[in-house]
Amino acid sequence: MDSSLTRKIEKARNYAQQSDRIQFIKFRAAFRGDNGDHTVTFEAGDWSCSCNYFTTRATCSHTMAMQITLEGMMSARPVAPPPHIPVETAVEAPVLAP
Ligand SMILES: [Zn+2]
Repeated sequence: MDSSLTRKIEKARNYAQQSDRIQFIKFRAAFRGDNGDHTVTFEAGDWSCSCNYFTTRATCSHTMAMQITLEGMMSARPVAPPPHIPVETAVEAPVLAP
């Protein structure tokens, strides 16, 4: 492994310890709830979930769980990604494993 890649890996590990550097702008995640699968989305500071409870209450255990999990990493409003990163890359968050 070349030294440049080794430094990048070290830097990545260091970044991974500093979640305040990361602000999710938009994402869609599959959420495996106790009673079924749901889709949770976040965009421009707004959460949404495909479950029935969210439809009537504008919140649910799935969006709350995501907020707890990603605490401090959610942007309240759209943040422009750095110009060298394509928007599709900058906004995608990993989908939760089923
Ligand atoms: Zn829900």
